Amino acid sequence: MTPDHATAATFEPVPIVIARGDGIGPEIMDATLRVLEAAGARLAIEEIEIGEAVYARGVPGGIAPESLDAVRRTGVLLKAPITTPQGGGVKSLNVTIRKSLGLFANVRPCPSYAPFVPTRHPGMDVVIIRENEEDLYGGIEHRQTEDVVQCLKLITRPGCERIARYAFEYARAHGRRKVTVLTKDNIMKLTDGLFRRVAEEVAAEYPDIEHEHRIIDIGTALLADRPDEFDVVLTLNLYGDIVSDVAAQVAGSVGLAGTANIGASAAMFEAIHGSAPDIAGQDVANPSGLLLAAVQLLVHVGQGEVAARVHNAWLRTIEEGVHTADVHDPTSSRERVGTRAFADAVIARLGEEPRTLAAVAYADRAPIHVEVAARPAQRKAQVGVDVFLDVPDAVPDELGARLEGLAGPRLRLDMITNRGQTTYPGGVPETLCVDHHRCRFVAADGDVTTEEVLALLGRLAAADLPFIKTEGLFAFDGVEAFSRGQGR
Ligand code: NAD
Repeated sequence: MTPDHATAATFEPVPIVIARGDGIGPEIMDATLRVLEAAGARLAIEEIEIGEAVYARGVPGGIAPESLDAVRRTGVLLKAPITTPQGGGVKSLNVTIRKSLGLFANVRPCPSYAPFVPTRHPGMDVVIIRENEEDLYGGIEHRQTEDVVQCLKLITRPGCERIARYAFEYARAHGRRKVTVLTKDNIMKLTDGLFRRVAEEVAAEYPDIEHEHRIIDIGTALLADRPDEFDVVLTLNLYGDIVSDVAAQVAGSVGLAGTANIGASAAMFEAIHGSAPDIAGQDVANPSGLLLAAVQLLVHVGQGEVAARVHNAWLRTIEEGVHTADVHDPTSSRERVGTRAFADAVIARLGEEPRTLAAVAYADRAPIHVEVAARPAQRKAQVGVDVFLDVPDAVPDELGARLEGLAGPRLRLDMITNRGQTTYPGGVPETLCVDHHRCRFVAADGDVTTEEVLALLGRLAAADLPFIKTEGLFAFDGVEAFSRGQGR
């Protein structure tokens, strides 16, 4: 693609990879590429196949290794939605791409386009920045007993620092005034607590950006009710997944939002909606989500001027009431168009700016790059061990008495919990007890050794008390780093 306002000799095309996906994917990708070409995007496009057909060939992640290599080589993927096959053995394509390319930051702008797309919040202009790799999305799940399954929530300090720095850098680069951090650290004091603490440490380095923390539940309620009070929102993976759809819908329609998934060496851009098989092939799908994702792509590859041309032409199209069926509204729409005609309408307005909505401008700047600071090692000492036992129909006081006798010379039984609630000592009969018991053993003084833990497990096994797993209880630089039993 060669721009109409520059020569190919002046600007080398940037290599990118595209994937047309399934359902409405090919139609909205065609529409998007036509607009980009007409706007003068300087892109050398390579195409890969993803989705249903790849899954059908038995590739569990829906993308072949050589396709992933193409994305790794170019560092940029524009991806249309795919249809996720039902059934076991299938891995999420998005999670596969995010994890294998280290796309740690998910960025979703959710502005209102009122009065042209109806919303109760015309002043809304929120960007959700979501940690994209960690949290409950590690896919580490186990069934441990007849009664209990577990999903592991992993939060890392480097992961928190990277996304927090990204959010503050983003705010600064985009002239935004405030970052709101959403966590549930009143309940998950270690995991969400780490996210909040690291975000606050990073915030201290950005005195020009205001910051605040809110608990995720009331924070989401406020975001849905008073979104004008939010600017950049920074949160963990699962909360971000939910909150970003809430924000997009409150802004007007999930059908209009595009998302960027950013890593240190690669980035993926996509619409947030799915493959809409119900309307595939009918030329009625709205290409706006993918087109606005492509706008973020252009900014990312340093073609901010082209990005602004596309975005402003799109805004002008929307405010002139040229709408696809999904956002068509008798009060704000003038013309109801299909996918191709919508793209034609945007192309016809390239070079124009919106009249009522604010025009956008994107500086040609390098992508945001964040470094995670090295930290001095801390002294780690084991002060005890939680042993998880599978004992059906246990009476907590009887199990406690048996474990007291098996604790050993230097360890003592501190407590038993069931689903986190303390059942021994001092449990109450109202607590629902399943077959999954966390039994905490601690040493009166000195570090607990691996040999002591192994000997304890041996005594438990010999007493016909099968263990599921153990969790070490550690102190770092003398500060205990584990949760207490609820109700203690
Ligand atoms: P969906 O987003 O595809 O569709 C929900 C509703 O919105 C449908 O009525 C659809 O017609 C409409 N819609 C969606 N995009 C539209 C557009 N651009 N223009 C006009 N209308 C649009 O969600 P779904 O039906 O739950 O999922 C369909 C498939 O997409 C599933 O297989 C799902 O797993 C997959 N999916 C993929 C992605 C992705 O690839 N990133 C994301 C979400 C869902």
